[in-house]
Amino acid sequence: MTAAVIDGKACAAALLAEVAARVDIGKARGITPCLAVVLVGDDPASQVYVRSKEKRASEVGIAARDHRLPASTTTADLLALVADLNADPGVHGILVQLPLPAGVDSDAVLLAIDPAKDVDGFHPDNLGRLVLGRPRFVACTPQGCMRLLAAAGVDVAGRRALVVGRSTIVGKPMAQLLVHAHATVTIAHSRTRDLPAEVAMADVVIAAIGRAEHIRGAWLKPGAVVIDVGMNRRPDGRLVGDVEYSAAAERASAITPVPGGVGPMTIACLLSNVVDAALT
Ligand code: NAP
Repeated sequence: MTAAVIDGKACAAALLAEVAARVDIGKARGITPCLAVVLVGDDPASQVYVRSKEKRASEVGIAARDHRLPASTTTADLLALVADLNADPGVHGILVQLPLPAGVDSDAVLLAIDPAKDVDGFHPDNLGRLVLGRPRFVACTPQGCMRLLAAAGVDVAGRRALVVGRSTIVGKPMAQLLVHAHATVTIAHSRTRDLPAEVAMADVVIAAIGRAEHIRGAWLKPGAVVIDVGMNRRPDGRLVGDVEYSAAAERASAITPVPGGVGPMTIACLLSNVVDAALT
């Protein structure tokens, strides 16, 4: 079997076209959706992420307000900025780029964001709503994975889904989304005793570990669907996922590539959340 490749770039382009159309509707009503981006310090990867989020935002007509702060910024400084952004009616979404420098209380900062402007979906209020099955803003990467499954025509209802990884930004919300879509869900993590056996039982595997090609293609159940969230840089500079792509593509029925799979969807879902925040 050779897997169908789930094209994240095409799927993201389609979502961004929808977002741009909704931005135009907002503008006709006198509302320009606006995302405030807060970047603290000079972490190069964070700078790249923020630049690409702002570039995509401007391409679809969303205004981006940039707040770049030095690494010496304190928790109190950030709480004051977040309070200002919360109170500003011209700002619809607030994104605080993680990780924050050591010494800043990230939890306190994320908790201070108005849940109605929490377009990353990391606030406990939004995570709680997701658990209750009444989501407002859903974390962008897991949301993107669900959209990719839908685009690939995969109905997870009644099927065994394995989420490998239990982070608050990917694994946990991902598992909730799959439960609400009626999958039978298992969450694996670093203490899971027999990961190959768990993978072998799964109809759908979502890999979000952060270890290059850790999940071997031979572990997969033939015909499984694979969504690879992982982004790992090899010593030779090559970007690879958490799944051994070439072997997995021989066994799976559908698979996301890295790059070009989940990555492009994350930003598109963020901008979709910003428009939701502005127009609803
Ligand atoms: P994270 O916070 O480091 O969490 C990693 C998870 O993987 C943890 O739950 C950990 O278990 C688990 N894990 C580690 N080693 C394992 C092993 N050998 N077997 C099973 N589970 C294991 O990472 P994250 O933020 O969720 O990100 C995961 C990956 O996705 C990274 O490669 C990241 O770059 C990528 N990512 C991509 C996007 C995108 O847009 N494409 C967005 C976000 C993240 P414990 O909880 O037991 O430690």
